[in-house]
Amino acid sequence: MTDCLFCAIATGDIPAEVVARTENVIAFRDIAPAAPVHVLVIPREHYATAAELAEVNPLVAAELFVVAGQVADQEGIATSGYRLESNVGDDAGQTVNHVHLHVLGGRDLGALVGSAGVE
Ligand code: 5GP
Ligand code: ZN
Repeated sequence: MTDCLFCAIATGDIPAEVVARTENVIAFRDIAPAAPVHVLVIPREHYATAAELAEVNPLVAAELFVVAGQVADQEGIATSGYRLESNVGDDAGQTVNHVHLHVLGGRDLGALVGSAGVE
C-alpha cells in the first residue's frame, strides 16, 4: 500500500532497528518505547487489522505470534513476562493503519497498557 509507514519499513525504504525477520514478518523497535522492551511485529504485506490478516492469511497471523515469542526470548523477557497488544481503531489509539503486535516488557506493566495505561 502506498503512503503506509510500516509498508515502507517492511521494504527498508524507511529505516528501523530490526530485531527479527522471517519470510512474511518483520520485527523492529518502537520509535517511542513505552517500556524497556517495546518491539513492533508486522506482516510484510499490508493488512489493516489482526482480524483481516487472520481471515485472509491465517498462517501469517500465526507467524506474527511465533516471531513475537522469539523476540521475547531474545530480549530476555520470556520468563519475566510480557504483553502482546494490537490496537484497532481510534478509541484504542491505533495510529498506523498496518496491523502490528506490540511486544512490551522489561517492567511491571500493571493491569492495562496502551493508551489506557502506558505513561
Ligand atoms: P499504534 O498506536 O498504531 O498501536 O502503534 C503505532 C506505533 O508505531 C507507536 O507505538 C509509535 O511509537 C510507533 N511508530 C510511529 N512511527 C514510527 C516510526 O517511524 N518508526 C518506528 N520504529 N516506530 C514508529
Ligand atoms: Zn502497510
